[in-house]
Amino acid sequence: MKTKFIEEVEKIQKNLSSEIKNIINYFLTHETIEKPHIIKILSLQKDEEDRNYIFKIANLIRKYYTGDFINIKGVIEFSNYCKKNCFYCGLRAKNPLIKRYRMSPDEIIQTANEAFHYGLDTIILQSGEDDLYTDEDLVNIISEIRKNTRLPVSLSIGERSFSSYRKFRKAGAVRALLKHETINRKIFENIHPDKNYENRIELLRYMNNLGYVTGSGNIIGLPNQTLEDIADDIIFMRDENIHMIGMGPFIPAKNTPLEHFSAGNAELTLNAYAATRLCIPRVQMPTTTALGTISQNLQYQGFFAGCNVIMVNITPDKYRKNYNIYDNKIKVEFYQTYKKIIELGFSPSPLTQKRMKEEINVSK
Ligand code: SAH
Ligand code: SF4
Repeated sequence: MKTKFIEEVEKIQKNLSSEIKNIINYFLTHETIEKPHIIKILSLQKDEEDRNYIFKIANLIRKYYTGDFINIKGVIEFSNYCKKNCFYCGLRAKNPLIKRYRMSPDEIIQTANEAFHYGLDTIILQSGEDDLYTDEDLVNIISEIRKNTRLPVSLSIGERSFSSYRKFRKAGAVRALLKHETINRKIFENIHPDKNYENRIELLRYMNNLGYVTGSGNIIGLPNQTLEDIADDIIFMRDENIHMIGMGPFIPAKNTPLEHFSAGNAELTLNAYAATRLCIPRVQMPTTTALGTISQNLQYQGFFAGCNVIMVNITPDKYRKNYNIYDNKIKVEFYQTYKKIIELGFSPSPLTQKRMKEEINVSK
């Protein structure tokens, strides 16, 4: 397997500039790359030949290091209430124009049951920071979904207490997502009024210690962010042994302090995917909905830049339309995504393929 990988890399390497060749050689001996390499990859321009080659290498690493499948995960956005006030987010407590909703525990469990037939690889429960759901409510929701669907449950519910995350782990949640957003303290404190830079990082470490498959990530295109900052984010996630990485461009949201800032650069986001794949070869990395909101085609391009995950939205439509983290958030729909993955020459996971075959047989 490894020799096949190296043979394929060598075929590509013949055409590379010496700087890019050095990066690939460093990867071949160390199975990672370092900050100056990342900055170089981040700075590649859209039509540069070197960029195409780096994307090809990232795609080969995805193929040989992660098992050659695209995982489709389903997100249930179960509440858009949030007590926090992140400057970039439309769900912030101080946005009075959002129509708030909460799904009941039964509705959440039912939504997961209904998605069973898709053969999703994970059910992600996402919300604002909403304390109206008690730990016991969430424990019950997690264990019911586990019991009914046997699928891995992932939490993306923000900064609950350490002890809550311990309870959720016991209840069967195996994955947890908590983006550090940016590792540059100054930028972080500028956009988070509670300025609680350490807590997210400590919580991430705690989740890792509890045995969660732990996800972090950053936003690309925050005010005053440089390529060096993005490289620091990637190195931080490698050094913290993060297993899943969500990196999306900043998208302005109405009625937020960053409403008038411009969106993050989509092409730079693709570069960041490729750099991350070279830095952390085994990581699970979605091509994000935020990127798809800029251009759906670019979201699919993420697969060619090293991404191996996509999240589809299974929130009931009546609620989904109010989950406006940012403006014009697209719906990534299961069937369309499944078809597109195959059309582009990638393979959904064996579980998803099996369920889709069963579904075709039933409908015959
Ligand atoms: N409340 C939880 C989960 C929901 S928000 C939490 O904050 O962790 C999930 C992610 O949406 C955040 O981590 C943030 O990175 C992203 N997000 C919020 N607003 C955004 C915006 N305007 N543009 C891009 N990403 C945004
Ligand atoms: Fe709340 Fe998460 Fe939005 Fe921050 S990013 S305001 S915690 S939903």
